[in-house]
Amino acid sequence: MRKKVIAANWKMNGTLEQANDLLDAFASATLNVNEEKIAVFAVPAPYLLLAKEKLVGNPFLKVAAQNCYSKKSGAYTGEISVEILKSIGIEFVVLGHSERREYFGESNSFLAEKVNISLEFGITPIFCCGEPLEIREAETQNAFVAKQLEESLFHLTAEGINKIIIAYEPIWAIGTGKTASNQQAQEMHASIRSVIAAKYGADIANEISILYGGSVKASSAVDLFAEPDVDGGLVGGASLIADEFIKIINA
Ligand code: PEP
Repeated sequence: MRKKVIAANWKMNGTLEQANDLLDAFASATLNVNEEKIAVFAVPAPYLLLAKEKLVGNPFLKVAAQNCYSKKSGAYTGEISVEILKSIGIEFVVLGHSERREYFGESNSFLAEKVNISLEFGITPIFCCGEPLEIREAETQNAFVAKQLEESLFHLTAEGINKIIIAYEPIWAIGTGKTASNQQAQEMHASIRSVIAAKYGADIANEISILYGGSVKASSAVDLFAEPDVDGGLVGGASLIADEFIKIINA
């Protein structure tokens, strides 16, 4: 079933006190979430268990890691494995965020390994893709994003790809206050769906949730989420403001 997903990406923000306050606000809010529309909170790793505990009362509020390593376990100091995530009940992991790609050199092929091990452990990847500004200006963004998908996801079986959530995040819109227009988002989401359809068939493509990320605000969310191929959002800055993110979830 193609779900609506509103995902918060806290990135490397928030003290324990702030995390407590934010999670309490989300746990006690009236949220429009259900079987078909879930909210996912990608919190810093030290708060994963806290988030699980705080949000346990609402089965449609999920917790995500912001990253994982490509190996099951071993001598990889500082890394977090999906085996560890699974053991603490984490169901989602953000993979391939543009900040991971840019600052930590994560390539499409390395991300393919992370996708594989996540699926092996039954953890759903929220797989990020998106183009930098120069690619958008050269109008080659569709091919650029298609290559990211091909190199990180298209080795999967139909059953495998069906378990992925895709987040399209134009890099020029992340944390910049610039959002892609609704039309730009819809065009790219339709392009992503058509690339998946060409490889796996239209039925599979229609089942996959494709989120938009890049300076989503409560004021832009209603119209953006009304686009036919936009199935929700991955939200950075605005997810750290309880009232704002509650409005986005309910948009
Ligand atoms: C993000 O980091 O995934 C993101 C979309 O950030 P922001 O909403 O702040 O642009």
